[in-house]
Amino acid sequence: MTQRFVLAIDQGTTSTRCIVFDRHARLAGLAQRAQRQRYPRSGWVEQDALEIWRTVERIVPAALRDAGITGEQVAAIGIANQRETTVVWDRRTGVPVRPAIVWQDVRTEELVDQLRNAPGAQRITELSGLPLATYFAAPRLRWLLDHIDGLRERADRGDVLFGTMESWLIWNLTGGPDGGAHVTDVTNAGRTLLMNLSTRQWDPELLRFFDIPPTMLPRIEPSTGDFGTARAVLPGVRIGAALGDQHAALFGQTCFAPGEAECTYGTGGFLMMNTGTELVRSEHGLLTTIGYQVGPEPVYALEGPIAVTGSLVQWLRDIVGLIATAPEIETLASTVDDNGGCYLVPAFSGLYAPHWRGDARGLLIGLTSYVTKGHLARAALEATAWQTRDVLEAMNADAGLRATSLRVAGGMATNNLLMQTIADVLDIPVMRPLVTETVSLGAAYAAGLSVGFWPDLQGLRHNWKVAAQWRPAPDRHTRDDEYELWQRAVHLSFGWARPADGKPPKPE
Ligand code: ADP
Repeated sequence: MTQRFVLAIDQGTTSTRCIVFDRHARLAGLAQRAQRQRYPRSGWVEQDALEIWRTVERIVPAALRDAGITGEQVAAIGIANQRETTVVWDRRTGVPVRPAIVWQDVRTEELVDQLRNAPGAQRITELSGLPLATYFAAPRLRWLLDHIDGLRERADRGDVLFGTMESWLIWNLTGGPDGGAHVTDVTNAGRTLLMNLSTRQWDPELLRFFDIPPTMLPRIEPSTGDFGTARAVLPGVRIGAALGDQHAALFGQTCFAPGEAECTYGTGGFLMMNTGTELVRSEHGLLTTIGYQVGPEPVYALEGPIAVTGSLVQWLRDIVGLIATAPEIETLASTVDDNGGCYLVPAFSGLYAPHWRGDARGLLIGLTSYVTKGHLARAALEATAWQTRDVLEAMNADAGLRATSLRVAGGMATNNLLMQTIADVLDIPVMRPLVTETVSLGAAYAAGLSVGFWPDLQGLRHNWKVAAQWRPAPDRHTRDDEYELWQRAVHLSFGWARPADGKPPKPE
């Protein structure tokens, strides 16, 4: 019998990759291509959605070639994507009306400030689980409707469609202008500010608040919903799943039980904890989100985004010149035994979860003549560990259950000293899996489940193999003392930016 595979498309912020997985969740083939980001004005970040679609057309066949298989051997396609990036396109021509507005784009700051004072603003978090912020898609869609002549009329007539990246790709894969499926999944829809977290449908009150015509919105499906069958690129292959990238990481790390938590450490850090089938509303500064939905009921999660983790290492390398390569930070930090009393709060553009302080700015404190470059390197790594503890403590408080371990992935997860430090300051084991492509794997798992390629969640758990594990050191007391100092440093960073130069990236 011919061997079968599942194909994952991970449409990320800086690149799009395509990975072919075999039945044992081993990586059989891979192709990747970076995409251009444009910064036409301060605070604006754009991408060309057509370029991204053309990239998919090229990397899917390239990944099949790399795996040495044909399209007929693909059992299903799974899609994971950068979340909140907004595309509006013409239903007849398939041409986007403007470049895609990327999730980091803050052009909607003024609009969001106005909306914050509009009647009904206080209901948004209750309905959507999210704070009203530039981070999410609805303000971007509203911005497009307000700034493109005639767009609202075209939307009312049903001539233009809105979607995040998975919608855009699925529409193109399933035929585009020729009957393409206009559809999204609950995890992506849940990041627009337009979906009701309880009904998992577009919420009429939220649509009214943002003044969005329902005619332009995709149908919302579970993560393993009905996304149609590809007619382009891989004709005849079913699209089995779609999930936002961090949700796919939670799934790929097989965090299927309440209290199971994972963190992807890249440019920023994204910590997610499974909170089970009951919706947990955060009272400690986290986002309430749908982790995934692979059956009739969704599994909820709490998420704590950390703005600066790996980008601090990049800054020390590219701007400060403390190190020549990212891995060198570990070598330098290993020249000393501790931080020498020094703390680095990387609040370069405010602090995200759980503080949400747009007025915070970075600080380095505790300096004495004793402090060396090694101490600075250690303080920089510890900043990621302490920030993780801030988020995890908020999660434990919100969820009423304690995470017993943390599964990690991303570029920084290769840093052993950092992983040990995280285990120490969280006082739980940290584990890195053999397959660190957790986003692609999550999309593949969900797609494979939807077509019966993998029978159940239990089977997927068996595929998760630990490659490295760090256990907390026993000297817990010192770590608690140090954590108190870190918290003092964080509080000192608050309020440094004056309102004119530091609008909050998110509400408090
Ligand atoms: P992204 O997906 O956000 O682009 P990656 O998962 O590829 O990020 O990780 C890249 C980030 O990880 C960079 O910010 C880099 O500075 C950081 N990084 C890479 N290797 C190391 C290392 N050995 N120690 C610390 N940070 C690292």
